[in-house]
Amino acid sequence: MTPLVTVIALLLVAGLAVGAMTLLESRRRVRRGARMRAVLAGAPSEVEVDPDSPEGLLAGALAAHSTELTAVESAMALQEDRLRMVMEHLGAGLVELDAKGQIEWMDSSAAQMLGLPLAAVGRPLGELVPELRDRQGEGVSSELVLEGPPFRILEVRLVPRGAGKAVVLRDVTELRRLERVRRDFVANVSHELRTPISVIRANAETLTDGALQDPVAGPRFLGGIERHAERLSVLVADLLDLSRIEAGRVELELVSVPVEEALARGAESVHPRAGERGVQVAWDVPAGLAVRADVMALDQVLVNLLDNAVKYATVEGGVRASARSVGTRVRIEVQDDGPGVASHQRARLFERFYRVDDGRSRQLGGTGLGLAIVKNLVGAMGGTVGLDPAVPHGAIFWVELPEVG
Ligand code: ADP
Repeated sequence: MTPLVTVIALLLVAGLAVGAMTLLESRRRVRRGARMRAVLAGAPSEVEVDPDSPEGLLAGALAAHSTELTAVESAMALQEDRLRMVMEHLGAGLVELDAKGQIEWMDSSAAQMLGLPLAAVGRPLGELVPELRDRQGEGVSSELVLEGPPFRILEVRLVPRGAGKAVVLRDVTELRRLERVRRDFVANVSHELRTPISVIRANAETLTDGALQDPVAGPRFLGGIERHAERLSVLVADLLDLSRIEAGRVELELVSVPVEEALARGAESVHPRAGERGVQVAWDVPAGLAVRADVMALDQVLVNLLDNAVKYATVEGGVRASARSVGTRVRIEVQDDGPGVASHQRARLFERFYRVDDGRSRQLGGTGLGLAIVKNLVGAMGGTVGLDPAVPHGAIFWVELPEVG
């Protein structure tokens, strides 16, 4: 072999070796690339990866991060869920606005409070709820009254947020209603107390100024004091009863109470007043009918209803009480043939101090609390109360309580 041929042969062998090595290297790179892609795609198990190789180490680190990420994600989901629950149960809602006042995001409570569909996202809040258009004063809360329906009072607080703002809403409708009820109650009680107190004072002054010696005027003024003191004590007793029932401080012992016996006791209690007015009280109850109730509470309910009926019944018609089984309940009715109650007034009749005719009620010795006490006691015994008109005139007050079979 000539030296030239040897050189060429050697060159050829070297070339082939280099080519083979390049091919092997490029295949290795392709496989490594595939492994790396698999690792980065989060599927290292789809390819065989040596745990000590760079890809293997990377895969280990990524797996650890991914576990951490999953833990962070579930912690965040939990926090979000808790926040949502807090917002919902506080009656709170959140609307996020961009710099132009357009809704970027809102939660379902906020959407519900404002009466907006969730699809309102992207639209200007001021256009959708004009009452909110000119709200200023970030960080200060103000109230927004939405006439509805449903009628709502919302507390609105604007909070700066990036270029836009967040609107934090809280539904205070029920809170404001309760505050009004409390204010009205205090005003009503003061009003009720004022008349007897001023009559007692005026009569006492007149007596002190000499009327005591007057054989005619003296007893008259003393009688006035007695009547109004009696009125005060009835009023205070009713108020105490009502507050004890409402505060749940009346312990009820629910037992089987025969309805006929309860109505007989009630009729007996109103007998003196019925006698004064010449009104008959009759009752008709199937034998053996019994309700699950507290004996004293049921007695008080029936006395209040019978007493009212006696006040309003006519001598000719009188008062009729009856009871019958209605499904799993017993319906007790107390009916009179008096003036009855106009339909628009029936819904409010069981409210404290609500009276159809103030003057007549006071004149008849009423406190305006009797029906509120009835409603509370019956509710505490798991029953319901109501009022239907009687034909041709008069009222049918009814109570439904669970039947004891
Ligand atoms: P009061 O002490 O004034 O009777 P209640 O709460 O018992 O208070 O009753 C509230 C009001 O309901 C009464 O003032 C009266 O206007 C009306 N009312 C109650 N019972 C009757 C009835 N049987 N017929 C007509 N009106 C009634």
